[in-house]
Amino acid sequence: MDDLYRRLPPTGFAPRAGELHAEGVPLSAIAAAVGTPVYVYSAARLRERVRALKAAVGPLGVAVHFAMKSNANQAVLALMAAEGIGADIVSGGEMARALAAGMAPRHVVFSGVGKTAAEIAAALDAGLHQINVESFEELRLVDEIAGAKGRVADVALRVNPDVDAETHAKITTGKKDNKFGIDASTLGRLDNEVKALPHVRVVGLAMHIGSQIMTPAPFLTAYGRVAALAEELRRKGYPLTRLDLGGGFGIPYENELEFSFADLADAIRATVHGRGFDLSIEPGRSLVADAGILLARTIFVKDAGGMHFLVLDAAMNDLVRPAMYEAHHDIVPVRIPAPAAPTVEYDIVGPICESSDTFAKRRRLPALAAGDLVAIATAGAYGATMSSTYNARPLAPEVLVDGTRWATVRRRVEVAEQIGWDQVPDWIGPAKPGQRAAE
Ligand SMILES: *Cc1c(COP(=O)(O)O)cnc(C)c1O
Repeated sequence: MDDLYRRLPPTGFAPRAGELHAEGVPLSAIAAAVGTPVYVYSAARLRERVRALKAAVGPLGVAVHFAMKSNANQAVLALMAAEGIGADIVSGGEMARALAAGMAPRHVVFSGVGKTAAEIAAALDAGLHQINVESFEELRLVDEIAGAKGRVADVALRVNPDVDAETHAKITTGKKDNKFGIDASTLGRLDNEVKALPHVRVVGLAMHIGSQIMTPAPFLTAYGRVAALAEELRRKGYPLTRLDLGGGFGIPYENELEFSFADLADAIRATVHGRGFDLSIEPGRSLVADAGILLARTIFVKDAGGMHFLVLDAAMNDLVRPAMYEAHHDIVPVRIPAPAAPTVEYDIVGPICESSDTFAKRRRLPALAAGDLVAIATAGAYGATMSSTYNARPLAPEVLVDGTRWATVRRRVEVAEQIGWDQVPDWIGPAKPGQRAAE
């Protein structure tokens, strides 16, 4: 069990002095102060990832827009802005969050297959850098809204390069049977479409073929296709100056080999660099995933039917990835076990009334007891942003650690507050405390 902590980046989370720390802060101190479950992020690791990516692609002139659907906490966004990167948003809500965190509108790109008229209008009013348009229907809507404002909107067309990203079916987006983007073979229609639309200016192409892609091969193919398409459109007279290459760069959750930012830079160099385009990328997961953990406490160790269940106080509403994508997350004890500690094979589950509320099956860990803390690793991306209040559970808080300092960056949203979100109409009558159904 000596490589128990191998999935945790040492800059962010390291075992020492008897227990796992987030940078300079013992995790037990955070649990004692804030309670569990709680997301804990490492500012040093976030910065390290952003700087590594910028070191790799910066020399190629590639701008970075953080795909904030992976982690939209205001403190994380403010850190990203301070590191000099922008945001890729997929909703009006994300636009509001990005701008509130101090992102400059000219560093924000709006992606997404179903932008509403209100969202498009808000994007134009805010002066975002670019709208990535995903269909001819959307192109006409943007034209209409920009026209009503007496404006011309800069748009990039998201094309679907029909590349198999070889990732989980629920997160692949670049095959032609996906809902995303404009099928490259229908771009021939563009001439007729765009001539009739005076209030949009097609300034670039965009693409995004999926998430958690572990090898450069799908990117090489897709970037090559997009570059060829862009040059074809240029020959037809379109003033294309921008290529948005999307995100999707994978990270190891279990035994995968690391996807290196150097390989990404090589793929860009080999395909799209030096052809006169302003280049940008939209990474989410690769910047934040391993900079976060979900800290939870064991409620029970339940032995039943020859099985050992570790019942945690975290559940699928806090971190849905295992239930939704069959995702693997390493789970480690916060107290460092003795070298010869006995081990047990656990099913690690949450308290929610669904069998899918399972974080791991048959996971061998040092023996744990009720009350022990565990860290669910690699939970910084698509964790808190996908959390819900299912089973009337509080929304888990988020904590940011920076050296020996730490702060709660989202407080726990308690159930008392959630009850106030609902309203009982008059004709039902006010809920009477203590009244039982049988009365
Ligand atoms: C989700 C998404 C991304 C980010 O994907 P990651 O796998 O987190 O890097 C980038 N661009 C678009 C359009 C997306 O929908």
